[in-house]
Amino acid sequence: MTTGRFAPSPTGPLHLGSLVAAVGSWLFARHDGGRWLVRMEDLDTPRVIPGSAGEILGALERYALTWDGEVVYQSQRLPLYEAALNELRARDRVFDCACSRADLQRAASAPVGEEPIYPGTCRDGIPDGRPPRAVRFRGNGETDDFIVKRADGVFAYQLAVVVDDAAQEVTQVVRGADLLSSMPRQIALQRALGHPTPEYVHLPLVVGPDGKKLGKRDGALPLPSLDDRHVADTLHDALAFLGLRGARASSPRSMLAEALERLPSSVIAAKRDIS
Ligand code: GLU
Repeated sequence: MTTGRFAPSPTGPLHLGSLVAAVGSWLFARHDGGRWLVRMEDLDTPRVIPGSAGEILGALERYALTWDGEVVYQSQRLPLYEAALNELRARDRVFDCACSRADLQRAASAPVGEEPIYPGTCRDGIPDGRPPRAVRFRGNGETDDFIVKRADGVFAYQLAVVVDDAAQEVTQVVRGADLLSSMPRQIALQRALGHPTPEYVHLPLVVGPDGKKLGKRDGALPLPSLDDRHVADTLHDALAFLGLRGARASSPRSMLAEALERLPSSVIAAKRDIS
């Protein structure tokens, strides 16, 4: 059975870009008669905004995006990530790294602000007995040596997402194309941990007038206050973005039901192309 999921980071209210990911993943899972889970990715504590998880869940309810089971909070699952990290250590698939961002920038002479490719400085041990900072995955050519536990002690998104998708038996990941470059890293981690790889679908990104991704971090407008007309309008926009422009029905539930019926001819074709 298909199990899809929506995994928002509670760092602000839902916006049109995240609504598209929610609607897209909901439609794909429900179309297959599958389950749809919601997981709050609240590990990046410095960025989490109190109250925003509740706000996101309230919005999903208003949009009739019903989920199955309990909402999972990553902040309550640290022992699972620790266990996976230990597993990776036992298999020699991670190493401690002492490099600071400044070290890496110097080594790569990368322009400030761009993520330099890790040059492998600490792969064979930390030089000069410096203290370990982050933990990195040993990429072995499939991927770079990306961080799985940050210098501030926070488990990285890549590790947590792989652990949770496996633990929740997620078989279908539908999300924005901004996460496309994470896919090879996540597949490499799944292989290193012996987990199955779900089906991946990356939806086109909603961009602003400047061509940049609409996102909380870029100051995107949150969804307008959730009165019924705004809900119908924004859901209509999200569906239209997915190629499912339909009538503005009276309730989000009937708009979604109608979109589900029209899925085979449009989105499923796109899904075949993308995956
Ligand atoms: N939490 C991630 C985000 O909000 C999405 C994770 C995922 O769908 O894999 O960008």
